[in-house]
Amino acid sequence: MTKIGKDLALAKQLLQSGQLVAIPTETVYGLAANGLDAEAVARIFEAKNRPSFNPLILHVADVAQAKALTSDFPPKAQLLADTFWPGPLTIVLPRHASVPDIVTGGLDTVALRVPAHSLTLELLRSLPFPLAAPSANPSGYISPTQPLHVAEQLEDKVAYILDGGSSSVGVESTIVMVKDDEVYLLRQGGHQ
Ligand code: AMP
Ligand code: MG
Repeated sequence: MTKIGKDLALAKQLLQSGQLVAIPTETVYGLAANGLDAEAVARIFEAKNRPSFNPLILHVADVAQAKALTSDFPPKAQLLADTFWPGPLTIVLPRHASVPDIVTGGLDTVALRVPAHSLTLELLRSLPFPLAAPSANPSGYISPTQPLHVAEQLEDKVAYILDGGSSSVGVESTIVMVKDDEVYLLRQGGHQ
């Protein structure tokens, strides 16, 4: 069975070498890879059997890291980020050229979020790249909220499962898009 533990150094090392690590967030567990490494991100789609046109959310440590992944971060995005991050709100913004096509499904926008989970925030702060992470389950299955559920669903498709206990929200994040100074609700998600 896949190794489950709280070893941040191991998680970091695996992610830096392009492998998949399951990470705890307050919404659900994510199946994470280096979000700037197209080959590593491709492993997420393969492991989940996820259609390639379904874009991924990039998880970042703070607003500054989010900004660097966009070509425009308008005042309304700043207000939303200042109000709701870290937390279960994903913001879709014009993407920076450094974001690989495979992350965005070829769209000219990118989805960004700072998750509210202390262990994952510590991991994100230690990494020089964002983490692309959809829920850590095969496509079409229930999103996991505990490390054991990830292990049961993904087995050897994930190199390591970072144990951060049970996800407190238990459902996916709310997604909004900020465009032309308007905010559009794309998905209504969970809250604390
Ligand atoms: P999840 O499957 O919970 O990881 O959420 C990913 C979802 O975020 C996708 O299925 C899309 O609905 C949404 N998403 C990600 N990137 C974008 C984007 N650039 N534009 C619009 N929606 C996006
Ligand atoms: Mg999902």
